[in-house]
Amino acid sequence: MAEKQKNAVGVRSISSYFGRASSSQEDTSQNPKKKQKYGRDRHRSLQQAWFTEFPWLTHDAENGLMKCKLCIDSKLHNVFTRGKSDNAPKKDDLLKHAKSRDHRAAFARPSLQEDMKSATTTAYGKIKDTTVALMRTVFTMAKEQISNRKLPALIDMQISNGCQALNPLQDGSSQLQYTHHESLDDFFLSIRTVIERQILSNVKNCPFKIYAAQLDEATDVSNLSTVMVYIRFVNCDGNVESHFLSVKELSACSAGEIYNAVSLLLADKDLDVGNLICISTDGASVMRGQKSGVTTRFKDVNPYLVANHCLAHRLALASEKAANMVPYLVKYIRDLNQMGKLLNFHQNC
Ligand SMILES: [Zn+2]
Repeated sequence: MAEKQKNAVGVRSISSYFGRASSSQEDTSQNPKKKQKYGRDRHRSLQQAWFTEFPWLTHDAENGLMKCKLCIDSKLHNVFTRGKSDNAPKKDDLLKHAKSRDHRAAFARPSLQEDMKSATTTAYGKIKDTTVALMRTVFTMAKEQISNRKLPALIDMQISNGCQALNPLQDGSSQLQYTHHESLDDFFLSIRTVIERQILSNVKNCPFKIYAAQLDEATDVSNLSTVMVYIRFVNCDGNVESHFLSVKELSACSAGEIYNAVSLLLADKDLDVGNLICISTDGASVMRGQKSGVTTRFKDVNPYLVANHCLAHRLALASEKAANMVPYLVKYIRDLNQMGKLLNFHQNC
């Protein structure tokens, strides 16, 4: 039993240690019961599925107690180390314990992290070549902007060309899921994590320890407002590097909201605002307002910051003004706009 649970540590997602493993699982198993909740407590019993959902849960059948293996191993004192009665057990109690400070502390123990690492290494060691070949394919697709739907065809083509590392995907022995869109999201997320870690490490280790940021706010067709953040710095070789850092959703397009979102993002990436020497934005008052614009707010925190009106945005404004002075271009833009309206009109009919 203990061995079984130890193995489960390696394959369960980390989130399951802290709460609900799957909302869909919760919906199907809990909701029907909620309707008949009253008067049924005494009929409740320990569910077998809970041992999978909460791998730390053990059952002392002799004394009728539920216990937490993690907390016991960490020599903590709480309800689940003394043992909670298995009489009419509630899943809520397990969820509550999973989120408790004690349990989280037990989970964060270095020795447990090592257990998890070795279990994961053993599990993935067997399919390492397959995983590497698959990840290389996904990375190339992302770099070359190839549609996600082409992945199965690319895998088939590589297998036909004799790529043996990918054979386990075809015969099913690897148990790797690669065609589902969620699997692809996971691959992209993993690749993103590695690339981002590299970029952030370069920023922190660059000779001057300083960096610049470019911000731009945008609202898409679904009315979702976001702020995009780019980062620029001089690397150890003396070359300037520019990278896309992140895009953050905004609940409002106000200066305060944008400032908070970007500040949180920098803090999340462990980037010190004190080392931010330049911010480049468009010329909108939300960004560059002298009293409470985004750049002014950053200057309040870091007085040495230089706020720059983005060159590309200035060029766009200058081009527009210049074009308005040329009659041919004015007519050209007017005709183009009318054509667009006509096409839109036909599309909506
Ligand atoms: Zn615990």
